[in-house]
Amino acid sequence: MSKEKISIVWFKKDLRINDNLALLSSSETNLPVLPLYIFEPDYWCQDFASQRHWEFIHDCLIDLNEDLKKIGQSLIIKIGETKNIFENIIKNYDIQSVFAHQETGNSWTYERDKDIRILLKNNRILFNEFPNNGVVRGLKDRNDWSKIRNSRMYKDNFESPLKLIPLKSINTDILPNRQSKFLKNKSNGITQKGGRIEGLKILDSFLNERCKNYLKNLSKPEYSADSSSRLSPFLSNGVISVKEIINEYRKRKENNFSSSNVKGLKRNISAFNSRLSWRCHFIQKLEDQPDIEFKSMHSAYEGIRDDFNNEFFFASWMEGKTGFPIVDACMRSLIKTGWLPFRMRAMLVSFASYNLLIDWKKSGTYLAKLFTDFEPGIHYSQMQMQSGVTGINAVRIYNPIKQSYDQDPDGTFIKKWVTELKYVHNTYIHEPWKMNLDLQQKSKCILDLDYPKPIVDHNQTSKFAKNLIYSKKKTKNFNDDAVKVFNKLGSRKKPVFRKRAIKTYSYQ
Ligand SMILES: Cc1cc2nc3c(=O)[nH]c(=O)nc-3n(C[C@H](O)[C@H](O)[C@H](O)COP(=O)(O)OP(=O)(O)OC[C@H]3O[C@@H](n4cnc5c(N)ncnc54)[C@H](O)[C@@H]3O)c2cc1C
Repeated sequence: MSKEKISIVWFKKDLRINDNLALLSSSETNLPVLPLYIFEPDYWCQDFASQRHWEFIHDCLIDLNEDLKKIGQSLIIKIGETKNIFENIIKNYDIQSVFAHQETGNSWTYERDKDIRILLKNNRILFNEFPNNGVVRGLKDRNDWSKIRNSRMYKDNFESPLKLIPLKSINTDILPNRQSKFLKNKSNGITQKGGRIEGLKILDSFLNERCKNYLKNLSKPEYSADSSSRLSPFLSNGVISVKEIINEYRKRKENNFSSSNVKGLKRNISAFNSRLSWRCHFIQKLEDQPDIEFKSMHSAYEGIRDDFNNEFFFASWMEGKTGFPIVDACMRSLIKTGWLPFRMRAMLVSFASYNLLIDWKKSGTYLAKLFTDFEPGIHYSQMQMQSGVTGINAVRIYNPIKQSYDQDPDGTFIKKWVTELKYVHNTYIHEPWKMNLDLQQKSKCILDLDYPKPIVDHNQTSKFAKNLIYSKKKTKNFNDDAVKVFNKLGSRKKPVFRKRAIKTYSYQ
């Protein structure tokens, strides 16, 4: 019996039917379409992958399946090694072509995609991979990047296909549940709700109302969870595309943001729009240089913290027991909720990398598991930037005491997450170590018994870290190598790389 001719659309980080060129193109083949999602157990046992990521994706797959059903063919789930799964489908079907989006993932997904390309080529099956958002594969020159990105992003959305030709027959595996046995890193908290319906709902509430306090609360851990878009995990999993978001706010802008228009709304949207561009810019770095997952961008910084490994420091930071209330509150909140605003993420990393001298790869793996929105391109680039190992960015050592006074002035966020400090008077909430024993007793918080004293001296450790980083800048060829990093990965906001600019330090 002859095999059924089909086309496959392989869903990875594009879990939507709208503005999905891979799906649209597969529908245009006029063949039955196999919409495929593969749960890869080997992926989920890696150190950076976590139950939290899967729970979010799980919600998204349920909505995706509903959307696909409406146009004629439900989602087919397969569990196993991708290569084996494709080999099996090849045995049973006459696959004419496979459609997918280019994935800028980590080395594991990169290698898997290479294997699949070879397998399909060997079987004479066309593999059509489309660009994902504003990331340009095979970019020749960084100078051209933003022009290419913007020309792609300021276009109409691709329509969703009206109808898919269904398959005659195919078996689907059962979607692994949220606590699947395949997940190595269990979650110890809640996960932001996923799915297309939820994504569109929060996009609407952000553009309609929540964004009016976007800039005002951007770095405030207590308020930003509400006034920030919270779209990051939806973008990481392609539940909504960047282009769809841009088109949505342009539509609302043309209508003058309707009746709920509030003063300063355009300024907030413009800041949000810049971040959508940064998103693509950061992912482009990993696309252009995949080894930044493992190696410092500037080679002078490779292994710079190896001699200072201190497991007590690492454990204290991971558990939110450093004795710096805002650092501990951020970590504990992240463990429970899976989200933090940008500045608080940067502060956590700065504290780990400069004050505790923890290797950014070690802290980065731990944080990747906790962030629901884990996006390798942004994550590894930001980990490196906030650890001072790029060689091209100003080094920022965040002062957690200043951040605490600035971003949580009345200590509400701290008290919510570091309950040992619940009764501490606001005068001492940012620096509880200044309380004498009498005050500690009155506050029901004895230092080093109920809550630790600071595990390091912030000023001394910052100075030490600054000298460590600075010493490398004096080494031979440092600037020549920094120019190479800039040419390949640097932002082109400032068109000319100024060799001396990299000397700047700031303590914020
Ligand atoms: C050490 C570190 C690690 C990070 N890891 C991730 C990650 O794994 N995934 C992730 O999506 N973001 C990451 N970020 C960037 C940023 O903190 C989050 O994107 C943001 O907090 C998500 O919240 P939001 O969706 O409400 O963002 P909004 O402020 O509403 O921004 C809208 C979108 O723009 C993008 N964006 C925002 N800020 C940045 C930025 N600084 N760089 C690049 N893109 C940005 C995100 O896609 C975000 O959803 C990291 C930042 C740091 C300092």
